[in-house]
Amino acid sequence: MTEEILPNLYKIEVPLPRNPLKAVNSYVIKEGGQSLIIDTGMNREECMRVMSAGLQELGVDLRKTDFFITHLHADHLGLVSSLATDTSTIYFNQPDADAISSGFNWDRAPNFAVLNGFPKDECNKAIANHPGRRYSSRGRLDFHILQEGDTLSIGDYFFRCIATPGHTKGHMCLYEPNKKLFMSGDHILIDITPNISLWSDDENPLNEYLNSLDKVYSLDIELVLPGHRRSFTNHKERIEELKHHHQTRANEVLSILKKGTRNAFQVASQMTWDMDYDSWELFPPPQKWFAFGEAVAHLKYLEEKGRVQKHRQGNGAVYSLK
Ligand SMILES: [Zn+2]
Repeated sequence: MTEEILPNLYKIEVPLPRNPLKAVNSYVIKEGGQSLIIDTGMNREECMRVMSAGLQELGVDLRKTDFFITHLHADHLGLVSSLATDTSTIYFNQPDADAISSGFNWDRAPNFAVLNGFPKDECNKAIANHPGRRYSSRGRLDFHILQEGDTLSIGDYFFRCIATPGHTKGHMCLYEPNKKLFMSGDHILIDITPNISLWSDDENPLNEYLNSLDKVYSLDIELVLPGHRRSFTNHKERIEELKHHHQTRANEVLSILKKGTRNAFQVASQMTWDMDYDSWELFPPPQKWFAFGEAVAHLKYLEEKGRVQKHRQGNGAVYSLK
């Protein structure tokens, strides 16, 4: 159930039923009676069951436990409202805390998607079934906000906060320079690529993400403990692959627009997706939703780079090559 990865640092693999991510990694550092939990799982029974059993196995006392949450997504933050006690501190970042307190963008994002060609009925279905909505934390959480360069220590672990915007606006990693250890959340993953999505006109998350990759590249890291899948050692190689991946995706978007003007939903439907469905039409609405978000993030990136032009069409937008 639990795996000791380094002295006093354990991993609990928390299952995410019927989710392509399969599981989220929760890390527990236990020193003396005190514990720090990094990311928690979704606010649903299947996660709680595994988490409770794991914490019990480790002898974690939740009254002496603090939490560090890498970003606002429900698979990382969701369960914290059930685990935290009134003596827990929940460390988090300001941009994601702001996104939560403004109701994330459950009103604005669907509007943005429909204006970019997402069919309204499918959009409603995607939103209704969105795991981020169903399994997020409940109630108001009191966060202790950390910023770039702030430190967080427990026992032998002296972490430094590294702001890595891109996957979310406030995504934050923890770096332990003495142990050359990097808790990457969803910033760098191996075997799968982190989802980079755009849900409003005034952001450019892919550009932020690529800058955050460059920032982490220069760190002296021996072991990456990510939010999903297995740990890995070759962070520079992985960062180069991720940058290459987004370059390839951007080129694919350009080659789709070479055939003519498209809205973002049409671009998404013509991109290649690593999914177990025979055609785009068979994708369940939530998968179309994630794919659309990625497509539009690449369009925005290319628009800012001057490669693509956005035109108004009715209330919406279409894109063409520049
Ligand atoms: Zn995430």
